[in-house]
Amino acid sequence: MSFGSLGLCDELLKTVAEQGYTTPSPIQIEAIPAVLSQRDVMAVAHTGTGKTAGFTLPMVQLLSGGLSPESSPENSPEAKTVRALIIAPTRELAAQVVESVKTYSHDMNIRSAAVFGGMRIEPQIAELAGGLDILVATPGRLIDLYSQQAIDFDQLEILVLDEADRMLDLGFIDDIRHIQTLLPMKRQTLMFSATFSKGIKSFAQGLLNDPQLIEV
Ligand code: AMP
Repeated sequence: MSFGSLGLCDELLKTVAEQGYTTPSPIQIEAIPAVLSQRDVMAVAHTGTGKTAGFTLPMVQLLSGGLSPESSPENSPEAKTVRALIIAPTRELAAQVVESVKTYSHDMNIRSAAVFGGMRIEPQIAELAGGLDILVATPGRLIDLYSQQAIDFDQLEILVLDEADRMLDLGFIDDIRHIQTLLPMKRQTLMFSATFSKGIKSFAQGLLNDPQLIEV
């Protein structure tokens, strides 16, 4: 199996090669085509399996290909809008994910940033003001920014919940349910979790629409 057979564009194949990745990991083999097909995905995968590239590479491709008529690569996102939102349970994970997003999208015209607690909110408000293609956020700071009217979710196309099991463990379920009510109903949603417990199943049920289940 090669990255080329998964449907990634030439720019992303070059990026993957530059990273020294020769073969896609099992989660990437399943997740990349599923995300490119614009289906919802429920993936059970641990950290270290390559899941971040598994959702970021196809997401970057969808965003740069233009999911909606307005979203051609020449058009920068509108003020305060976010086209894809990745929610992570901890600051450390958010910081790590945005670094991967920047690495995997460096050859594409994609604007990304991370917002999380423990940092001044003003620079984050300023960063959001210009609009972003991909925002990585922790739940609490995201809600803070929304209540300060720093984010507009009207153009949101993709939602990713990374390490959803840890979100439940850390008590973020109500925050996520609240955030969900702020987002457009018509969107693609991807959920990644290390376990597929009863709690995760019911969490997923409320968020995902006919998801493709991936277990590796
Ligand atoms: P993740 O599970 O997303 O945290 O990724 C774990 C590590 O695997 C990261 O350091 C990636 O750079 C690396 N990685 C991701 N995909 C591949 C691949 N296909 N081949 C080799 N390494 C990879």
